[in-house]
Amino acid sequence: MSTHAWSNLGLPRVLNAAGKMTYLGSATLPATVVDRMAAAATQPVEMAELARRSGDHLADLLGVPAAAVAASASAGLVQAVAATVVGADPALVQTVPDVSTSRRRVVLQQSHAVDFGAPVTQLIRLGGGIPVPAGSANRCAATHLAAAIGADTAAVLYVVSHHVHAETQVSLAETVELAHAHQVPVIVDAAAESDLTGYVTAGADLVVYSGHKAIGGPTSGLVVGARALVDACAAQSTGVGRTMKVGKETIAGLLAAVEAYQSGTDQLAALTERVDAARQAIGTDLPVRLSIETDATRPIPRLIVELLPGAGLTARELIARLEAGDPSVRTRNHDADRGRIGVDPRELTVDGAAQVGQAIRAAIGVREQGR
Ligand SMILES: *Cc1c(COP(=O)(O)O)cnc(C)c1O
Repeated sequence: MSTHAWSNLGLPRVLNAAGKMTYLGSATLPATVVDRMAAAATQPVEMAELARRSGDHLADLLGVPAAAVAASASAGLVQAVAATVVGADPALVQTVPDVSTSRRRVVLQQSHAVDFGAPVTQLIRLGGGIPVPAGSANRCAATHLAAAIGADTAAVLYVVSHHVHAETQVSLAETVELAHAHQVPVIVDAAAESDLTGYVTAGADLVVYSGHKAIGGPTSGLVVGARALVDACAAQSTGVGRTMKVGKETIAGLLAAVEAYQSGTDQLAALTERVDAARQAIGTDLPVRLSIETDATRPIPRLIVELLPGAGLTARELIARLEAGDPSVRTRNHDADRGRIGVDPRELTVDGAAQVGQAIRAAIGVREQGR
C-alpha cells in the first residue's frame, strides 16, 4: 500500500468493498488519471477555450453531439434544468432560481423523485424549475405523464437508478415520444450508469453522469446531449453555475478517465478475479453461504456473504467488527437486515480483495472461538 494520505489527521486506512460510494470518497484514481491532473494543476490555461475544446474532445470520444464537464452530476442536473428554463440568455441566467418566466415546470414520474443523498426535486428548484411529480410512488402510466405535460413544461426529467423502485414506470422511449410531441426536452439523470451513449441514442436531449462513479474519474460530472442545450448548461457559469465551478485539474482528470473508460480494458474479468480472491480467502469451512450476484443494471459481479443460523453473530455485528479493524473494511450493507453483506470489487485490488476475505474470515472466526 502507498503512504497513508490521512495519518496526520488520525483517520484509519479504509479497504473499500462497498463500491464507488460518495461517503468513502467515490472512485480512487489510477496513476494515468492522477498524472494528467498533476500536470494540469501546475499550468495556467485559457479556461473558456479549455471548456470548449474539452467538451468537443469528449463529444468526439463518445460519438455524441456535444458534451461538457460539470462539478458533479447534481451540479450538471441543476445546470441542465436551468438550461431548459432560461436557456443561455445572459440576463435570465442571472435570475435563476427565482425565475419570472412562466415555462418552469419540470415533470418527473413520482417514483423518480428519489433521494440519492439529496432530493432530486431540490436540484430542480435550484435550477429555477418547479417539480411536478406524475403518477404515484409505485406506479406511473403514460397517461399520467401525458396529463402532467403542458404549455408551461420546461422539461421532463427521467431518472435511471437503483434508487428507483416502481412496479410500473413509463419507459424512456415512451417518455421521449410524449415530451417531444410537445417540443419539451428530456433530461436523463444517469449519474451512476455505465452506458455513456445509449440514452442520447434513445432520444434524450441532455444526459448527466457522475465522473466519479462508473467512469472512475475525479469528483466531477459529465453532461452530454444536444449542442444548444449543452451550450446553455455552460452558459449558467455566469449565474448559479459559478457555485459549481470546475477546475482545470478536474477537467484533465475526467478526460483521462473517459479515455481509459472508452478503451475498456477487460473490466469484467478483472472484477471477477477480485471477487474470486475474496471468496477463496473466506474459505469453505465457515457457517456462511457464498454466492456471486450481478448488479441489476450494470455488469458488476459481487460476492454475497450470507450468515447461516449457526454463525453466532448477526450481519450488523459482522459489519461492526469489519469496520473496527485496521484497515477498516467497509462492505456493501443494503441487505444486512436479511443477514447478507456484499463485497464489491470495483475499488479493490486483487490483494485488497483477499485482505477483505481474510478480515471476514477472522471476524467470524474470532466469534466462533469465543463461544
Ligand atoms: C449519485 C447520484 C447523483 C449525484 O451525483 P453526484 O455526482 O455525486 O452529484 C444524482 N442522481 C443519482 C441517481 C445518483 O445516483
